[in-house]
Amino acid sequence: MKVHQFFFSVLLGAASLMLSGCNQHTLFRNGASEYSIVIAPDAPESEQYAAQELKNWIAQVSGVELPITDLQGGQAGKRLVVGYNAITEELVPSAEKPSDRDDAFTWCNEGGDILFWGGSKRGTLYSVYSFLEEELGCRWYSSKVSVAPKRETWSFGTLYNHEEPSLMIRDNCVLDVRNQPVFSARMRNNFVKLPSLDGKGTIAGTAEGYWGVHAMGYFISPGEYYAQHPEYFSLIDGKRQESYAQLCLSNPEVLSICIEKIKQKMREAPDYLIYSMEQNDNMRPCQCEACQALVEKYGGESGLMVWFVNQVADAVKDEFPDKFVGTFAYQYTRHAPKDIVPRENVVIRLCSIECCMLHDYDDCEQNKSFAQDLKDWSAIAPHLYIWDYVTDFLLYCLPTPNWKTLQTHLQDYVNGHAIGILEEGDYQTPSCEFRELRAWLLSKLMWNCNADVDALIMDFTEGYYGAAAPHIREYLEMEDRILRREGMHTGCYATVAHEMYSPEFIREGRRIMAEARAAVADNPELLKRVEKEELPLCLLQMEHLPLEGIESGADTMFRRVIQQEGISQMTEFQPNINATSYIESFQKIAEDINNAPHFPAMKAEVKGEKGVGYTRYEGTFKSTAEMLANGKVVKRGTMPTIAIEEDENIDHFGYVFDAWLKVEQEGPHQLRVATDDGTVVMLDDKEIINRDGSHSPQTQTAIMNLEKGFHRLCIRYFDDHEGQVLDIQLTASDGYKGPLPEERLFLVE
Ligand SMILES: [Zn+2]
Ligand SMILES: [Zn+2]
Repeated sequence: MKVHQFFFSVLLGAASLMLSGCNQHTLFRNGASEYSIVIAPDAPESEQYAAQELKNWIAQVSGVELPITDLQGGQAGKRLVVGYNAITEELVPSAEKPSDRDDAFTWCNEGGDILFWGGSKRGTLYSVYSFLEEELGCRWYSSKVSVAPKRETWSFGTLYNHEEPSLMIRDNCVLDVRNQPVFSARMRNNFVKLPSLDGKGTIAGTAEGYWGVHAMGYFISPGEYYAQHPEYFSLIDGKRQESYAQLCLSNPEVLSICIEKIKQKMREAPDYLIYSMEQNDNMRPCQCEACQALVEKYGGESGLMVWFVNQVADAVKDEFPDKFVGTFAYQYTRHAPKDIVPRENVVIRLCSIECCMLHDYDDCEQNKSFAQDLKDWSAIAPHLYIWDYVTDFLLYCLPTPNWKTLQTHLQDYVNGHAIGILEEGDYQTPSCEFRELRAWLLSKLMWNCNADVDALIMDFTEGYYGAAAPHIREYLEMEDRILRREGMHTGCYATVAHEMYSPEFIREGRRIMAEARAAVADNPELLKRVEKEELPLCLLQMEHLPLEGIESGADTMFRRVIQQEGISQMTEFQPNINATSYIESFQKIAEDINNAPHFPAMKAEVKGEKGVGYTRYEGTFKSTAEMLANGKVVKRGTMPTIAIEEDENIDHFGYVFDAWLKVEQEGPHQLRVATDDGTVVMLDDKEIINRDGSHSPQTQTAIMNLEKGFHRLCIRYFDDHEGQVLDIQLTASDGYKGPLPEERLFLVE
């Protein structure tokens, strides 16, 4: 975007507001209008589509169906002129005819006529949408929720707006946009083609596409080539690799096959702008001498990649002067090369997968290396394209408070000359936290990276959540305050165990959401939208504070929202962890609490000191019973709480811990043990957890009703070989949640 033009249009917008005192033209009044929508007879289908949208939305606002006629139809001064045509030339002679694929647009009036134009493929349509939003108050908050405020009348004096996008290609890669072409166009995302007017296909040219991803493996697949030509693939440890390989880029035959195949693809599928010539999704580049000599020469693996892709770009340039060859700066090719620069018709797709989403690029230790790469690439690459990550792919619904950095990261991309962006969100499942708000905000920011985020959030929340809006904003501010607190960082692969998700956050979140629900209790549709946003909190509460979760109905709300929204998949790669598995595990917790055994206190009072007694064993055993029978006692003593020696070089040892556990408040208590290798937990001489045996880390949970007073806790642990883990988490009925606290453990006299 040319920023000065944006501000210019803002100023003109303000001027038009000031002039609106003299609204001498009336588009409609009391269900009647003298206006027609006018369109050239040879207007492309995309502009006919724009005229249809203008007609439909004006009808929803006013109740008037305006006729659509050709340029001779309609009465001068009472026309809505859609598309750049003879009337535009006549009334606005200073306007130049835009190129078909230009997304910039203008709408303005000349007397009583209103003119809408931009590039015929999308710009004109965006002009119509912008007018409907700015002047008539229409909103498209999601593919399902649109707003067309009813009006008795609408008049105007001076109208003018001109906008240009911040980025040429805007790909909001979430389910509700990628799979919803109508909504996608309304959001001015241009990665998905418009549906044709007869609803049977799509309209050519209405998207700016990036063909393919990781396409090197598609052009030269091991299935097709490995048997005859193993030398086309990565040499690793002296062997040409068949699977999880990259291509041997220094091999001239690899280059000529890639050139032929990408040309073929450009001929077969000509409607794209950029064609992938991108590395496969693994970290195993070729180690052969010729490849590594080029890596050395050009300052890293990206140098070899650019050397290769430049040759492809040179070979396709004459036949396809308007197309780009795209390649990755991803993982092992993320750092920019030296002594080589990408050609003019090469697009470098830089991926932010390692970045912290909570902080600006210049403002976070974890982002420094990416920030440098972004600067280095923008200094040498004529065209950058960003693959950005905006949600949590290990569990889509986890709270990800990147509300501020969605904008600052985008601004950095635009300042680094990015021409396009793929914002990867919940592309597989409708389960991302605040998915509609996130998608809407991203669409608005991809169009104008300098838009006012607070104003956008205000607009969305008021329109989408109704009376719950102030509470939703309070929640978003709380997320920002508590989850982005000092020392917190998160990338796109956080788990429920991330320390951001503290009891304080969960409790505060559910408190605010309860107020939000109460505010819309009489409106079932809005209540559904609010409850949906509580899903992550319900899940976190059941995971971290299950006793409170069951008491507050987090398990039933979780199940209800999952069913209402039709959510099944919840993570990108782990099919076994899905909505059903969570529902089942929460059901089990509810049953365990209902059936929790009662433990009367063994003592009302303990006079001894704080601490835990332990006996350390050494020896090779396969269970704690074997340890007790055959292990050698090497030490006895006391420690403040239960802990084992954690050192990867130490194997074949074990402990028996013995202590009084002080219970502050009668009620359900949960103990959760993660152990590698085996652990057995006895409470008041009853076995409550048994994860004995030699194994990698496993967890087990026990829930008991404990009487106030002292309970005897005896834990046997052993390590066989390799990793050793003993992590015990207590959730108490008085609200405590965390490791066994020192102040509740007392020595057994
Ligand atoms: Zn090689
Ligand atoms: Zn950070």
